[in-house]
Amino acid sequence: MTQTRDILRAGLIGFGIQRSLTPAMHMREGEAQGVDYRYDLIDLNERKLGPDDLEMLVAEAEAQGFCGLNITYPCKQKILPLLTEISEDARKLGAVNTVVLRNGRRMGHNTDWWGFAEGFKRQLPDADLSAVVQIGAGGAGAATAYAVLAMGARSLAVFDIDPAKASDLASLMARNFPEASVTVATDLQAVLNGATGLVHATPMGMDKHPGMPLPAELLHPGLWVAEVVYFPLETALLQAARQRGCRVANGGGMAVFQAVGAFSLFTGLEPDVHRMLRHFADLTQPGPLRLPETA
Ligand code: NAD
Repeated sequence: MTQTRDILRAGLIGFGIQRSLTPAMHMREGEAQGVDYRYDLIDLNERKLGPDDLEMLVAEAEAQGFCGLNITYPCKQKILPLLTEISEDARKLGAVNTVVLRNGRRMGHNTDWWGFAEGFKRQLPDADLSAVVQIGAGGAGAATAYAVLAMGARSLAVFDIDPAKASDLASLMARNFPEASVTVATDLQAVLNGATGLVHATPMGMDKHPGMPLPAELLHPGLWVAEVVYFPLETALLQAARQRGCRVANGGGMAVFQAVGAFSLFTGLEPDVHRMLRHFADLTQPGPLRLPETA
C-alpha cells in the first residue's frame, strides 16, 4: 500500500514500545500545524520479529512512503549499516534514533543526545559540569555521555555493572572529546564524593525495574542528579536525591526534545516546543515536575 501524497507517515521501530508517548507527541503537533500526520508503532514483539528484520522493516516503510523512522532499543546500532548517510554527531556516538527517508536515501541522525541536553539545560540551568559521574553505558548512556561532554563537562566517570560496556563508552567519548578527562569508574562512592553531578542511564527505577541504581547514602547536596527514566517521571532515585538536597532533572526533557528534533527532521516543519512540552505534561500529569517552558 502506498500512502497518498498529502498524508505524512512516520513510525517507531523497537521492542516493548507500546507505552511510548512519541506517536502522540508527533501526531498532536502535526494536527496543531494542520498536517495530516500518522505515526505508527512498529513493535518487534507484536510482529514477532527481531533486530535482523530491520532491513525488511525499513524497506517496507520506504515502500509505504514514510518520511521517517525513529529507531529504539535494540536497533540503534543495528541500523547503521542500512543507512546511506549518517550525521556527524550520530557517527561519533555510534547510534542512530532518527532516520529521514527521502528519494531512496536514508539519513541517520541522533536526536537523543540533543534531547537530553535541551531538557537538562531547562531543568538544571547553570549546573556545575566540572565532575560528572554517569551510571549506565548502554544506548541512552551513549547519548547522555555525548551530551554532557558537548555541554562542556571537564570530567566524566562512567560506571556500569558490565565493566566492558563502561570501558567501551569511555574510550569512544575520550576519542571524541580529547580535551575532557573520561574514565571508567569502579568505586561509585569514591567518584561521587568529589562529583558535582550524576547522570542516571540504566533501566533501574522503571515500573518494571523498581529500585535504585546506587545506595541513597552516596547522594549529597553538592550533586545535581539527571535521570533518563520517564516511566515513571518521579523515580525512587529522584525522590531520594531531592530528600538529600540535590537539584534534579527528570527523564521527560529527553523524551520531549528527541521528539521535537525528529518532528522537525521528518516533516521539515518547525515544531512549537512549548506546545509539545504542554502536551507531554498533559500526557504524564507530573504536577510539580512539569518542565519549565523557557530555557
Ligand atoms: P540498555 O540496555 O542499552 O543499557 C542499559 C545499561 O545499564 C547497560 O549497559 C547495563 O549493563 C547497565 N545497567 C543495568 N543495571 C545497572 C545497574 N544497576 N548499575 C549499573 N549499570 C546497570 O538500555 P537503554 O536503551 O540505555 O535504556 C536505559 C533507560 O533509559 C531505560 O529506562 C529507557 O527507558 C531510558 N530511556 C529514556 C529515554 C528518554 O527519552 N528519556 C530515551 C532512551 C532511553
